[in-house]
Amino acid sequence: MAGVSLKHICKTYPNGFEAVKDFNLEIKDKEFLIFVGPSGCGKSTTLRMIAGLEEITSGELKIGDTVVNDVEPKDRDIAMVFQNYALYPHMTVYENMAFGLKLRKVPKDQIDKMVKEAAKILDLEQLLDRKPKALSGGQRQRVAMGRAIVCNPKVFLMDEPLSNLDAKLRGQMRIEISKLHQRLETTIIYVTHDQTEAMTLGTRIVVMNAGVIQQVDTPQKLYEEP
Ligand code: ADP
Ligand code: ADP
Repeated sequence: MAGVSLKHICKTYPNGFEAVKDFNLEIKDKEFLIFVGPSGCGKSTTLRMIAGLEEITSGELKIGDTVVNDVEPKDRDIAMVFQNYALYPHMTVYENMAFGLKLRKVPKDQIDKMVKEAAKILDLEQLLDRKPKALSGGQRQRVAMGRAIVCNPKVFLMDEPLSNLDAKLRGQMRIEISKLHQRLETTIIYVTHDQTEAMTLGTRIVVMNAGVIQQVDTPQKLYEEP
């Protein structure tokens, strides 16, 4: 478990576009932090820099006590869940969840234990032998979450994880994610366009606009009637 510290983080893309400008934020251990803001304001770029999928142009990024600017994604103790959960179609649910652990050369019996534990938490135990195409949207999204939690990361990054689901499923998954956060006692950084998600899940909400932080507040303060 760990907090995340962003100090003077900037991202300029190779074409010269400044997507993130002097971003400063201390994300506390076990916090559920929400990013909101218009499309193109730099939310995904910030998440991808934290994950190590996008190079940081300048500034200092810490996960826990470690400066991770030059640390490879797989060594950052972070798991990311995207909106287009991108499961491997030819692998079963079990294999999808085990894949990251295999890459890390975790022993087989340990992988088995970790996958089964995650499957229990996410109610996937009956589905372990299925291929993704034989799953509903909500089940697929749970597998994507499962793939993230088996690695027992310090920090979860979620980029609009529910935006491809219908309203009913979104409501159910929102509750699942909230339970997951409490149960795993982990730090979550979560991008959404959905005000209900932001209000019910977030401990704090960061409002971004044009590459900068416009406001940081609790959901109560941010959305209270004037
Ligand atoms: P979305 O708003 O759906 O999240 P993004 O804006 O993140 O989509 O873009 C999707 C992909 O396209 C990403 O890999 C991103 O790096 C790339 N991309 C987005 N805008 C540009 C751009 N102006 N030039 C080059 N690549 C871009
Ligand atoms: P958000 O997630 O808030 O929708 P992004 O972080 O995806 O925003 O993108 C921020 C800005 O950076 C957008 O204007 C986008 O077009 C631009 N962008 C994203 N990826 C690239 C890229 N690879 N090259 C150039 N510009 C990019």
